[in-house]
Order: sequence, then structure tokens, then C-alpha cells
Amino acid sequence: MRSVTVLGASGSIGQSTLDVIRRHPERFSVYALTANRRVDDMVRLCLEFRPRFAVMADPKAAEQLAVRLPDDGVTDVLAGEAGLCQVAAAPEVDTVMAAIVGAAGLPPTLAAANAGKRVLLANKEALVMSGQMFMDAVARSGAELLPIDSEHNAIFQCLPSDRMRDLKGAGVRRILLTASGGPFRTFSREALRDVTPAQACAHPNWSMGQKISVDSASLMNKGLELIEACWLFDTRPEMVEVHIHPESIIHSMVDYVDGSVLAQLGSPDMRTPIANGLAWPERIDAGVKPLDLFALGQFNFERPDLERFPCLRLAAEAFEAGGTAPAVLNAANEVAVAAFLNGKLRFTAIPVMIERTLACMTTEAADDFDGLFAKDREARCKAQEQLPKIAV
Ligand code: NAD
Ligand code: MG
Repeated sequence: MRSVTVLGASGSIGQSTLDVIRRHPERFSVYALTANRRVDDMVRLCLEFRPRFAVMADPKAAEQLAVRLPDDGVTDVLAGEAGLCQVAAAPEVDTVMAAIVGAAGLPPTLAAANAGKRVLLANKEALVMSGQMFMDAVARSGAELLPIDSEHNAIFQCLPSDRMRDLKGAGVRRILLTASGGPFRTFSREALRDVTPAQACAHPNWSMGQKISVDSASLMNKGLELIEACWLFDTRPEMVEVHIHPESIIHSMVDYVDGSVLAQLGSPDMRTPIANGLAWPERIDAGVKPLDLFALGQFNFERPDLERFPCLRLAAEAFEAGGTAPAVLNAANEVAVAAFLNGKLRFTAIPVMIERTLACMTTEAADDFDGLFAKDREARCKAQEQLPKIAV
């Protein structure tokens, strides 16, 4: 029986995780559920899964949840970052699903890593921000870091399990990282200027949270994933080649020196990588419908267009620059995406805001996590300052 904490239980990945857990009550029990503000969802989830703890990042929401849960001593309500870190590191927990969106997920994900848990990593921003420091924490504690991002989970499945961070030893020539291309794949540069948040969030293949949907539309998601792949598999951007594959059936591939290319395929449903991580090295039913290749008929591939989608280039450059450049890129992107979703920034101004933020900051490596969080805050301020200067 695995005891699981789900960070970000009210979100898209959180709900898919709970759906897999729901199918296997003999294998998994829920120790803690966390959310930011969505009290209604948490009441419903707590009544179904009866966790030991429910954590609301927002203290007001925590008070409301405590009032609404039955007074039967089953679930204690905690609040804030301290509560998130407590349930991520608790000795009773062996698996932590890291599915908070953005930099806010780093402290509890790091707490899980420091405590030596099986960490199921969906929260790519946490790793992009902290890179080497996070990987060092994993190595020190002996935590088991398993990728949930569908592409990275696919690569993980296509590698020998003992060579996840030894691509050369495994005989890998390169990694082929697939991307759907998002809803604006075929849009002209002019048409991209006027796209709306609703259009950006209507992903052709995947149903996801708003932030990652916008990132998919700008290709920043692939940029973050390129950095994520470099850290997870201890490799360099030149070893990772992005392939636009609009059908989103091949979730990524590994090209070996003998000419073999191994791919992982499946319906675009996050329950597959989630079930893989939860049960690894076993396989369990994820509730995903079998792939119908006859209905699909064909697969297509294109090169990414870095002119129309500069975010992918910016991310690769930030990784090359090293230090805190990826953390600054991530923070500026979070500010830009929020502004776009609030109607305050054009879609095509997202990379402009990121590039200007990077240009006006120093990005030397941080000495420790406090230094990293300070850099993250500084980048958010600088990005906000750009907002009035970038014409809407
Ligand atoms: P979502 O917006 O649907 O859910 C986000 C979750 O994070 C919610 O539970 C929310 O309550 C919580 N949250 C938000 N802000 C918080 C804060 N400040 N403090 C604490 N909790 C907070 O997002 P999602 O689509 O489920 O994505 C979650 C993560 O997984 C992201 O990092 C995303 O990039 C990654 N991911 C998602 C998918 C997908 O298909 N949705 C695929 C691959 C990777
Ligand atoms: Mg992905």
C-alpha cells in the first residue's frame, strides 16, 4: 500500500491522479490533498478520499475548509507553505505527486525530495527554476524522481531503467522531444497578434490548466521541457531535438547509436504517465482507452518555427546562459502569461516581456534556495515594470 500526497489536487493533473488512485484502492491511500483556493472542490475530494490532512495554500480558504468539513477527527486542515511542506515530507508518506503550477510548487516539491520520497514530477517549473540544486537534493536524499510530463515519461520508458542519467552509457544518440505545436501552429505572425486567451486555452489534443495551455500555444512549454529534459536525463540541449507532431500520439522518442528509435505511444491522456509513475515498475489500469491506430491513419512531423514562436529559443538560450537565467525566464513567463490571461498583454508580447526582463537582470548562480527565491521575486518585479512599456 502506497501512501500518497497530492500537491495541487484540485488541478487538472491532481484530478487525473485521483482518478487513477480511485481505481486502485488496494494499492494507494491518500495521506494529504492540497489546493490553493478552491474550497468546494476540496470539500468534495476530502469527503471521498478521507485524507489525514487537507492543506489550502491560502489561509482564508483553509479557514473556510475547516468549517465545512465534518467534525469527525478524520481530516485536519493546514494552511500555507509550511502546511504544504509538512505533508510533502511527512514520514507516513512514500509518494508525492508534485502537481502545483509554477514556482509556488518548488518549496513543497523540494521538501519531498529532501525527505527522500518517490517524487512524481509534473511541476516542471520547479525543476526549471532550481536545476542543479534540485538534482543535488534528490541525489543527497536518495529520493526517486519520476517524470510525469508525458514527453519525459515517454523518454523514461524508452531508456533502460538503470541508465536514466547515463545516456552515453546507454548508447543514446539523441532524444526526439515531440510537441503538438499548440492551437496556433498554422497561424501567421500577423494572426498571432490578435489571438485571445480563450483560443490559447483551447488546446487541440490535451485538456490542461490555463497556464500550461498558454505555454503550449507559445511553445514556452516545449522550452521549459527542453530544460527539464536536460536536468532529468543529465544531457545538453544539442542532444534534444524538438519535433512538432500535431497528433500528440507519440509522446517522445529515443534514438540509439545502432539506428534503433524507441517511441512511447498512447492516447493523449495524462492518466497514462501518472499511472506509470504511481505503480512503477509495475503496470496498472489507468482507465485510458486503447489506441486506435486505424482511426488515426497517419502521423506527421514538422520542424518548430522559432521566428513565430521565439519562446522555445529563449528557453534554450537561458539554459545555455546557466546560473539563474532559467529561473528568471520562468518568472517572467509566469508574469507574462498571467497578464495575457487578464487581457493586459498581447500573446506576441509574451516573449518580448521575457527577453526584456532577462536583458535587465544579472543571472549569476544563486548560493542557495533563499538566493534563488530572491531572484525569482526580483524577476517578477522587473517583468511587471515592463508591462506598461509593452504596447497592448
Ligand atoms: P492547474 O491550473 O489545473 O492546477 C494547478 C494546481 O496548483 C491547483 O490544484 C491549484 O490549486 C494549485 N495551485 C496554484 N497556485 C498555487 C499556489 N500559489 N500555492 C499552492 N497551490 C497552488 O494546472 P495543471 O494543468 O494541473 O498543471 C500542474 C503542473 O503540471 C504544471 O506545472 C504543469 O506544467 C504540469 N503539467 C500539466 C500537464 C497537464 O496535462 N495538465 C501535463 C504536463 C505537465
Ligand atoms: Mg509535456
